[in-house]
Amino acid sequence: MSFIEEVPFSGFGKKFTEHSGIYQLMQDLDTALNQNPEILFLGGGNPAAIEPARTHFQREFESIAKSQEKFHKLVGVYDHPRGNSDFLDDLATYLSKALNSKITRHNIALTNGSQNSFFLLFNLLAGQDIAKKILLPLLPEYIGYNDVGLSDNLFLGIPGQIDIIEENRFKYKLDHGRLEKNSNLGLMCISRPTNPTSNVVSEEELATLQAYSITNKTPLLIDAAYGFPFPNVQFVDSALTFSENTIISLSLSKLGMPGVRTGIIIAHERITKAIEKINAIMNLAGESLGPNLMHALLKNSAISKICNEHIQPFYRQKSNDACAYLGEQLKEIRQHHIHANEGAFFLWLWLKNLPITSVQLYERLKQRNILVVTGDYFFAGATKEKHHSECLRISFAQPEAIVKKGIEIIADEVKKAYAS
Ligand code: PLP
Repeated sequence: MSFIEEVPFSGFGKKFTEHSGIYQLMQDLDTALNQNPEILFLGGGNPAAIEPARTHFQREFESIAKSQEKFHKLVGVYDHPRGNSDFLDDLATYLSKALNSKITRHNIALTNGSQNSFFLLFNLLAGQDIAKKILLPLLPEYIGYNDVGLSDNLFLGIPGQIDIIEENRFKYKLDHGRLEKNSNLGLMCISRPTNPTSNVVSEEELATLQAYSITNKTPLLIDAAYGFPFPNVQFVDSALTFSENTIISLSLSKLGMPGVRTGIIIAHERITKAIEKINAIMNLAGESLGPNLMHALLKNSAISKICNEHIQPFYRQKSNDACAYLGEQLKEIRQHHIHANEGAFFLWLWLKNLPITSVQLYERLKQRNILVVTGDYFFAGATKEKHHSECLRISFAQPEAIVKKGIEIIADEVKKAYAS
């Protein structure tokens, strides 16, 4: 036996090697998408392969590969720790127009994917040493936030209020009454559109959060990984603007490029400067493939066209089809409720008074070669409630035949569970 097996891990090592929901999800994703194609993957947020979008990215890739100068710029030089300056200037011009806000290169910092942005921002602004928590004002929220804190107990979560909007359909709403003055908050965070629910926090709710952010002096982070301006997988009209009390997080992943690991933080200069300095220590330089693939598409505004004419209609159709099919398959189960499908790649299913937990349902579905994600993972910082174990997140990004077959098997297991 090697002594390495007994070498102690630090507090950091222990915390980051414990079981986590996001680790399980990424393991499941790899098993289904890379190793065992038999599995019907309705789990993680891997984007679909959308032909016209892929063609654009591939063309940019080929143009870089053919040019000695571009290729050298891509692989042969370290970029600035905040990201390549020319790219940042053009990105600032694009974002100023799209978000109708004044944004300069000083308001932007690039990261190695937005998951990395959360690690940096959460630990910059919250933690036990400064007695500051992160408020998740409308649960359920993205599973990937849960474990990025260097300190424990990083979150304070407020469950959304359930609004039944029609038979078998519901929507979570912000519980305004619970936004109390709290000097122990370092950051508030929402994903918009929300992973897992497909909710788009309304403009009115956003205005309430922004007003609270100012009175409580707590920055609001809007994670727009699925949202405006790219990939704009949002099925309701709703504007987004930038102000220096807000932090916006974007990503190239859900456009169809999760492999390039590029995150974009738009924030007050004090925040972007801090990210730049941490980046230098952790990574030396920013990642350059994503920015190089995106640069020309931003300059000629092709990216907006790709999102609005291809990516958004593609997911809107898939979302509506999957929602209708799930509703049809479950029509005899009066207790089923599907969340309003307003964006992102998911349906959120609430099975009221389900006799088994969603973890048991997940296990039964796994036995039948279907991967979904159980509700419990999406309620960080809240007291445990039965509702958390009555929900499932179902991704519809995979091809139609897989999604339909998966939904049929989910409905079958759900009916069996209610019958038991
Ligand atoms: N934000 C949300 C809401 C997500 O669902 C994801 C990934 O699934 C991310 C951020 C992280 O994406 P990436 O690190 O690939 O930018």
